[in-house]
Amino acid sequence: DHKAAIIDGKAIAQTIRNEIAEEVRHLWQKYGKVPGLAVVIVGTRKDSQSYVSMKRKACAEVGIKSVDIDLPENVSQDDLVAKVHELNATSDVHGILVQLPLPNHINEEKVLSEISIEKDVDGFHPLNVGKLAMKGREPLFLPCTPKARHSSYGCLELLSRSGISIKGKKAVVVGRSNIVGLPVSLLLLKADATVTVVHSRTPDPESFIREADIIIAAAGQAMMIKGSWIKPGAAVIDVGTNAIDDPSRKSGYRLVGDVDFQEACKVAGWVTPVPGGVGPMTVAMLLKNTLDGAKHAIAQ
Ligand code: NDP
Repeated sequence: DHKAAIIDGKAIAQTIRNEIAEEVRHLWQKYGKVPGLAVVIVGTRKDSQSYVSMKRKACAEVGIKSVDIDLPENVSQDDLVAKVHELNATSDVHGILVQLPLPNHINEEKVLSEISIEKDVDGFHPLNVGKLAMKGREPLFLPCTPKARHSSYGCLELLSRSGISIKGKKAVVVGRSNIVGLPVSLLLLKADATVTVVHSRTPDPESFIREADIIIAAAGQAMMIKGSWIKPGAAVIDVGTNAIDDPSRKSGYRLVGDVDFQEACKVAGWVTPVPGGVGPMTVAMLLKNTLDGAKHAIAQ
């Protein structure tokens, strides 16, 4: 019986965090400085608060200084933008993260576009996305390589750390959102894959997915990708995180990916579990982007 290799995102993320901690120590020894990440939260949404406290804790663990900015729900857009400008000008802040979603009276796009591209660790700035899409536009005058969203960067890191080469491979990305599908397809293209993007208007997505050596699933559709859609030996990275009813659990639900994991295990070469695959990588990539930003700024 064939059994796919399970890509352990939690273990890989821990390895990356250890590497970051080591590099932070090195920066401190050599320059007497540590990387700084400003984490800005507006209001008291429970989910946002738990993400933010997770990120701040992760910073502390690797020795990155987290600059905590907690603003009230009713903060004006002008005051928030002024805060972003202040952080742009603060030299020991190397990355700025504004936790989304913002309250309705604030224009998210406007706020995100005010973050200096050198400190855009979330990779949301349209200029960073544009540079990602254009050939040869990377680090010439851009300190921090645009890595778009952490989850997309995390997908590529999972592939490379599992020894899966991308160059020359057929990759299919399922989904084209600004935060996952689009950046991950651009990153794969940069890494020399031949990339097909399928979306909700693609007739017969299965016919494309069957051809893929690498499948990145980011549609948000519980278990839509069946075992029979997967080419034997393919690498399957499942970004999807979907809650489905499960009366056997106390919570009443469980999380599943966009891929039927049990079936995929019987055909794929590699597969990521949900949870425990792409998810744990996102915070590790945020720390990595902050470190990269700091290395550039400090070594100047
Ligand atoms: P969106 O809803 O913004 O985008 C979904 C994309 O999938 C769209 O491009 C849509 O097409 C496409 N799509 C929807 N249904 C189908 C279908 N049946 N066949 C093919 N394509 C389809 O979602 P996100 O990109 O924000 O997130 C995708 C998933 O990834 C979610 O489950 C989310 O929870 C998860 N996620 C996980 C992260 C992690 O760290 N693990 C981080 C971010 C997201 P169209 O453009 O035509 O509408």
